[in-house]
Amino acid sequence: MGIASINPTTGETLKTFEALNKSQIEERLARGAETFKTYRSSSFATRAEMMNRAADLLERDKSELGKLMTLEMGKPLKAAIGEAEKCAWVCRYYAENAQYHLADQIVETNAQRSGVRFQPLGPVLAVMPWNFPFWQVFRFAAPALMAGNVGLLKHASNVPQCALAIEDIFRRAGFPDGAFQTLLIGSDAVESILNDSRIVAATLTGSEPAGRSVASIAGQQIKKTVLELGGSDPFIVMPSADLVKAVETGIKARTINNGQSCIAAKRFIVANEIYEQFTEGFVQGMKNLRVGDPMEESTDIGPLATPQILNDLAEQVEKALASGARVLTGARKLERPGNFYEPTVLDNIDPSTPVSCEEIFGPVAMLFRVKNIEEAIAIANATPFGLGSAAWTNDPAEQSRFIDGIEAGSVFINGMVASDPRLPFGGIKNSGYGRELAEFGIREFVNIKTVWIA
Ligand code: NAP
Repeated sequence: MGIASINPTTGETLKTFEALNKSQIEERLARGAETFKTYRSSSFATRAEMMNRAADLLERDKSELGKLMTLEMGKPLKAAIGEAEKCAWVCRYYAENAQYHLADQIVETNAQRSGVRFQPLGPVLAVMPWNFPFWQVFRFAAPALMAGNVGLLKHASNVPQCALAIEDIFRRAGFPDGAFQTLLIGSDAVESILNDSRIVAATLTGSEPAGRSVASIAGQQIKKTVLELGGSDPFIVMPSADLVKAVETGIKARTINNGQSCIAAKRFIVANEIYEQFTEGFVQGMKNLRVGDPMEESTDIGPLATPQILNDLAEQVEKALASGARVLTGARKLERPGNFYEPTVLDNIDPSTPVSCEEIFGPVAMLFRVKNIEEAIAIANATPFGLGSAAWTNDPAEQSRFIDGIEAGSVFINGMVASDPRLPFGGIKNSGYGRELAEFGIREFVNIKTVWIA
């Protein structure tokens, strides 16, 4: 597939783009490296002023930017506008806190003075996915630029207009030419860029295969990487939970972003005592969702981003059914133009089948019935992924066991997994390594320099 905006609601090609050629890529790499020479020593105050201007632009233009996201990847417009607002939040968060997170640290030793200074690394390549086409980029770019690095974005090939709009925001905010550049390239051009000595590190948010590829190329070059990969998050409901809230939140957690979120709840693990009650409410709630044009205010679920994603999802559901799963609602493509799939609930999942712990990227929930907390934790952990997790219980002892026992980058109790600039975000196992957001995110692409003075 080339670099193109194709409206997933209609299948119409909106715009196509030529990938950059070798000399255009070279020109951008040179510009990034040149800009870094001076940008690295700009003050936090100067960077913060520009970052706050980027936030102003995101807030001012949120409706237009939201429309662009919806046109290119199909998320409901109200969510897309919310995404632009959240990007403004992360810009303001780092504008305000970067200096504090990266302040010199004094450490008492036998030296007259010793401690740590944080310094930027240089040009960082960011390989990003289409599912949160603004948020994924800003949560890398805001801390990276505030730390004094420069960024080069290789965005997913189906969201080129979003990629260009982001570059334009940083330019209009006053960042120097070369501080943030979009490279319109296919994934085949990534290897030579990673091998270029001017690129010092890389971050990738995307699928496991893409993560493996980028990390192994960067590993050969001894360049640091951060990987934010897929997830198969558990959503556990125990008998003491507030069931009405758990059902309502579970539906939202499964179908947010048309079901295409790395931290969407994908496996619902429900205690035997409340299984029927939970299932009844959950299935009814999924049936009530309005599927349709994501530009409409009333739409809950829009199309999947590409025909390929739609076909992959349908295939996964078929695999689950072939291994004994039962359909409680949905399980079919919609007969209309665009990449629409009906909200679906499956139960009777055999936990020993591969599909039971794969990432399902679409509005399809799998339900598991468990006898007790041990079984709930065992099923929650029976996946190669370890991104987010949610557990619903009002028993403090159970809360504590979930917090300790679930193998994931985050545990949310009586809530839905979500990112927040103030809290670290990332995974373990095949969900990747490294962290974004909070002080942990801004310290990923810095030299943690030890200073020791006799
Ligand atoms: P993807 O196919 O891996 O694509 C992500 C990015 O990687 C795109 O820019 C893509 O470029 C590029 N890419 C793909 N293969 C590559 C390769 N071999 N070498 C270099 N670059 C490569 O993933 P996606 O389908 O767009 O996104 C969905 C995945 O992202 C899901 O698994 C989801 O869970 C994960 N995700 C994770 C997080 C997190 O924070 N953990 C957040 C959001 C999404 P092209 O478009 O040109 O192929």
